[in-house]
Amino acid sequence: MTDKKLTKAEWGRLEKALCRVRKPVWSLLTGVGRAQAMDFCEGYKAFLGEAKTERETVAWIDRTARRHGFLPADEAGSDTGRLLWNFRGKAAALAVVGRRPLARGVRIIASHVDAPRLDLKQNPLYEDLNLAFLKTHYYGGIKKFQWVARPLALHGLVLKEDGTEVHVRIGEAAGDPVFTINDILPHLASKIQGDKKLSEAVPAEKLNILVGGLPLAGPDGSNNPIKLGLLKMLHERYGLVEEDLISAELEIVPAGGARDVGLDGAFVGAYGQDDRACAYCSLWSVIELESPETTAIALFLDKEEIGSDGNTGAKSRFLELILYDLMRRAGGPLMPDSVVRTLWRSKAISADVTAGVDPDYIEVHEKGNDALVGYGVCLTKYTGSRGKLQANDAHAEYVNWVRRSWNRAAVVWQAGELGKVDVGGGGTVAKYLAQHGLDILDAGPPLLSMHSPFEVAHKADVFMSYRAFQAFFSEKETPER
Ligand code: MN
Ligand code: MN
Repeated sequence: MTDKKLTKAEWGRLEKALCRVRKPVWSLLTGVGRAQAMDFCEGYKAFLGEAKTERETVAWIDRTARRHGFLPADEAGSDTGRLLWNFRGKAAALAVVGRRPLARGVRIIASHVDAPRLDLKQNPLYEDLNLAFLKTHYYGGIKKFQWVARPLALHGLVLKEDGTEVHVRIGEAAGDPVFTINDILPHLASKIQGDKKLSEAVPAEKLNILVGGLPLAGPDGSNNPIKLGLLKMLHERYGLVEEDLISAELEIVPAGGARDVGLDGAFVGAYGQDDRACAYCSLWSVIELESPETTAIALFLDKEEIGSDGNTGAKSRFLELILYDLMRRAGGPLMPDSVVRTLWRSKAISADVTAGVDPDYIEVHEKGNDALVGYGVCLTKYTGSRGKLQANDAHAEYVNWVRRSWNRAAVVWQAGELGKVDVGGGGTVAKYLAQHGLDILDAGPPLLSMHSPFEVAHKADVFMSYRAFQAFFSEKETPER
């Protein structure tokens, strides 16, 4: 080391050569790149408006994939290299068969299509003081006070006893009624809300949906005239009886589609961007693949927000089913360890959003190690909390492979975690897929107001997530240095 004082130019050169500086995506994009990002997010907004439940999202993915030449694996001929799986209408997978043998491993991007919401209880409909309501049980991590006093929509599926499916979507079309959860006025709130902790101000059993107020005319003293009026309407419109509401999945979501946010339209504001941002980006990255070197699989999972349990969640074994299907189609001997070995040699991204640094809540963030909004897709080596507990902690070799692929493809990316140590943290599907032996890390765009009824994403970050997933699927297995 010399003590020679560096000139300004020398300092600049040394800094440029040695330091990693995060830069806003927008400052690095050309006019064409900016137009592409904006254009990509127009499609993204339309998708968010249509796909507001896991079932609607899987139906959208299924339709879109078929339009682009994908066929269900159990219907496709042996010459089809573009395959589709639909698991109970709530989880899905798309694969594009690669040129390399499957035994050398596959590439997987796993996103999730469920989002925090309010589900109707099993016996939802009741009447109290001439008002009719639907009881709910929340799904996933919500802040309950965010769901009151706002327009809500009812989406879902009801099965009649004879098996007839009734698809419900009320509160989205112009002219549709919406629903709402009432909040108490400020004049009466001081004792029951004002002195409470924010998390207790709106108890879960008060998340009741206002659904009707016109009593059915009948004999004096009849019980529940509003409830009966509503059941009569449901019967006339859909042929439903009250018991059908038990064999149903009815979800309450914020009403309305995605909107541009900001005078400059920098952001997309919408419900359900965790994790439909990644679902949309990975969908297009796999659809646009033509004859990749390595077989590419996009997984669209359910149940992430409640721990990935259930047979449509990441803990289910349908990834193995997909591998068996692919291997049978490829021909050759299928040994007892073929699937295990293929997965062991595979690479994956758990495509999920993360929390963007919010300047108003800087105290929960570590600026240098949390994701900055507008600074590109965020690579997260480990999630977990309180000492990386329950994290898939990605290996350095794999992180290196991913960052090299992104750098070669000029993806604007950053590395970050979710909040300060011992303050934040969380889990994704990474650790469940890692149980198969594959290498995996997390990546996705940062969000503001994450898990709220109106999440906000920077368009540049959504676009860079798409570019990152494209690069992941296209990268050669052993890239030239
Ligand atoms: Mn998520
Ligand atoms: Mn989430």
